[in-house]
Amino acid sequence: MAAHDSPLLSDHSWRLLTVTLEPHVLKNSRKVGWIEVVCGSMFSGKTEELIRRVRRAQIARQRTEIFKPALDTRYSEDEVVSHDDSALRSTAVATASQIILLAQDSDVVGIDEAQFFGDDLTDVCRQLAESGKRVIVAGLDQDYLGQPFEPLPQIMAIAEYVTKLHAICVVCGNPANHSQRLSGSTSRVQLGAQESYEPRCRDCFDLALSKGEKSAQSSESGDGSSSDAAAAGTSDSGASSETGASGSAVRA
Ligand SMILES: [Zn+2]
Repeated sequence: MAAHDSPLLSDHSWRLLTVTLEPHVLKNSRKVGWIEVVCGSMFSGKTEELIRRVRRAQIARQRTEIFKPALDTRYSEDEVVSHDDSALRSTAVATASQIILLAQDSDVVGIDEAQFFGDDLTDVCRQLAESGKRVIVAGLDQDYLGQPFEPLPQIMAIAEYVTKLHAICVVCGNPANHSQRLSGSTSRVQLGAQESYEPRCRDCFDLALSKGEKSAQSSESGDGSSSDAAAAGTSDSGASSETGASGSAVRA
């Protein structure tokens, strides 16, 4: 017997179950807004997931708009482009508050690379949701030192739904939660340098390496540099978009 035929599952509880699995499929008849967060380390597939959700909203004939910080022009000026090369049109904005004005006519507002917008974004998301919009926020939840990366923790706290994605650790193959920095910069924001990061699990994450206190070569034994390890990790992963490091290597 299929689950929805069960006399034990009332129509109400079936709706609840549906909401748990995929919040946005429920018809939004009362124009109630909400916030969804898609977070994780670099190469965890956040932008792919944002694009997937916005595409589905477009199929449902909802008006969508994607915003990204103006400083993030690594791949394209007017598109959100993920590591697996899927893309949607987007608008680059200098500050979070610009999103309020530019999103007025949208039902669904996507925000990529949210960690670069700063603390103002939290209240912007709240205002958008309170005006009846579905807000989908994608961004890094930790910085290269493994510390919470504002404003994602604050937005996660006020969000209705939080999805945490994982990359694959290029050292050991376990789910990766950390963005390992391989170069010596101590700036929290380091753009245009995808090749200087790789996803690592808690066990393989090397804080001293991220801090630049030692070189990538000395952090691993055996098979040479960490970028070699990244290349090996992605070639093993086949069609998976979760590691994504190969795309950045091609662009680098
Ligand atoms: Zn690992």
